[in-house]
Amino acid sequence: MPSNHPAPPGGFQPPDDKPFIYGNHNPDQEIKSNLAAAAATRVVGGMSTHWSCCTPRQYANASLHHNERSDLFSPDEWEGLYKDCEKIFSTDTTGKVFADSVRQRLVMKKLKEAFDEDFRKGVKKDGQKAARQVSPMPLACKQTADNKAYIEWTCTASILEKLAEPNTSPNFTLMSQAQCDMLKIDAAGQKVEWASIVDLVSNEEYTVTAKKYIICGGATLTAGIMAKFVFKSELALDTFCPALGKYLTEQTMSFCQVVLKQGFVDEVINTPEHLDKPEDTPEQKSSTKVIEHKKQHPEDPVPFPFEDFDPQVYTPYSEDYPWHTQIHRDAFGYGELPSNIDPRLVVDLRFFAQVEAVATNYISWKLGSTDAFAHIPFQAVAQGQRTSPRDDDRASSNSPPPIPISSISIPYPSNPWTQTRSMTHVASLLGDYIPGAEPQHLAPGLALHICGVYRAGKTDNKEESVVDRAGKSGA
Ligand SMILES: Cc1cc2nc3c(=O)[nH]c(=O)nc-3n(C[C@H](O)[C@H](O)[C@H](O)COP(=O)(O)OP(=O)(O)OC[C@H]3O[C@@H](n4cnc5c(N)ncnc54)[C@H](O)[C@@H]3O)c2cc1C
Repeated sequence: MPSNHPAPPGGFQPPDDKPFIYGNHNPDQEIKSNLAAAAATRVVGGMSTHWSCCTPRQYANASLHHNERSDLFSPDEWEGLYKDCEKIFSTDTTGKVFADSVRQRLVMKKLKEAFDEDFRKGVKKDGQKAARQVSPMPLACKQTADNKAYIEWTCTASILEKLAEPNTSPNFTLMSQAQCDMLKIDAAGQKVEWASIVDLVSNEEYTVTAKKYIICGGATLTAGIMAKFVFKSELALDTFCPALGKYLTEQTMSFCQVVLKQGFVDEVINTPEHLDKPEDTPEQKSSTKVIEHKKQHPEDPVPFPFEDFDPQVYTPYSEDYPWHTQIHRDAFGYGELPSNIDPRLVVDLRFFAQVEAVATNYISWKLGSTDAFAHIPFQAVAQGQRTSPRDDDRASSNSPPPIPISSISIPYPSNPWTQTRSMTHVASLLGDYIPGAEPQHLAPGLALHICGVYRAGKTDNKEESVVDRAGKSGA
């Protein structure tokens, strides 16, 4: 998706009627509705190779305004599905992995005290019945059995376990450098006949037949693969899956970074036992860790052991504070620290808000454009039946494959500042801003939480959903 940055005035500028197309840029993309920071990961393992592993459950309270969870499944079904997924993802729901980190304890304690104080003083929402909560972040990770200093973060490889290693099963082959190009659907639009796979090294194409075909190429690419096979199977997108690409959602994102307050760190230096818990073994005590660190490294002005785990906490989504939050450390490019600041003193705050699922937020595909992986030219079928802006996208023939190049329009929540103001308040309770990392809205799409473009529905209402509860599409 093209960047929103203007080109430098002294450099080459494309003519107004011929915008850049290189790098999968959709020349029809309106800059104002572009998710400029959205991206797809094209490696084995996908985004799990660099995700943050934060896995809080969606907020569910159907009777209240901010219900996040769809009614596609009953509460019992959701519970069962969450439990299964949390098992597969090794989600640490109780926060035990980070429970003994000195900084985890410090951030939790200071935020809890500050939230209680806020509530006492009346710094709260109208009708708020209890102090705001702070909890350990549910994280998809576990400590490695043989070395407690290491954490194994969940990813595709850790989920597949032995299957991720070549030749461990006659029934399972994981291939790199191979791309699913399309699925051939029969003329009745009922059945997949075969899948075409391209070897990206030799450019050779071969077909695969199966009882079931599952496409899981990430949000935008899965929708793109579907759009492509609809075109190539000479079906009409409008009748086969009219909701494809629509109802796109993405979270808006606010960000800042603080250095912990002087007083908090001094307290750890002088009275680390304030962070001890009655049930602690001697090794678990923060006081033991801090005193031992001081002994080993008297030259270090910071009391936190070098191997102390980063803080990983959040304020759970609630009716009064309807934002997903991450109060932690993470290694994104935009969070890089100045070299004169010890990273052990830094806490990142990321607050995410939801946008409504509406048909007018969508991905479209432009025939005639290709992305880096679209090798096989084909005869595209002009559909030309839409009255939406997507009409033009399908009007050409003899074109290369349609590739998802998003033309996305996302109306932001009515007041994105509420989420940023809330983050600013929490940040002010912890420390002071790192220059350059003061509160800011991040570029649209940066959350990389795009959903909805091949959404599931309860009924067979093709206008509103692409697949059924089991993720199955018409063919
Ligand atoms: C930096 C970052 C942090 C994140 N943090 C969190 C978080 O804390 N919590 C959370 O819930 N989510 C987070 N996310 C989002 C989360 O990682 C994604 O929602 C999730 O990984 C999507 O999984 P997926 O399998 O649907 O798609 P992907 O992870 O995108 O995987 C799709 C795979 O399909 C492959 N593929 C695509 N097209 C083809 C094709 N034609 N043929 C063959 N293969 C193909 C791709 O190469 C890729 O391997 C984060 C994402 C990023 C990038």
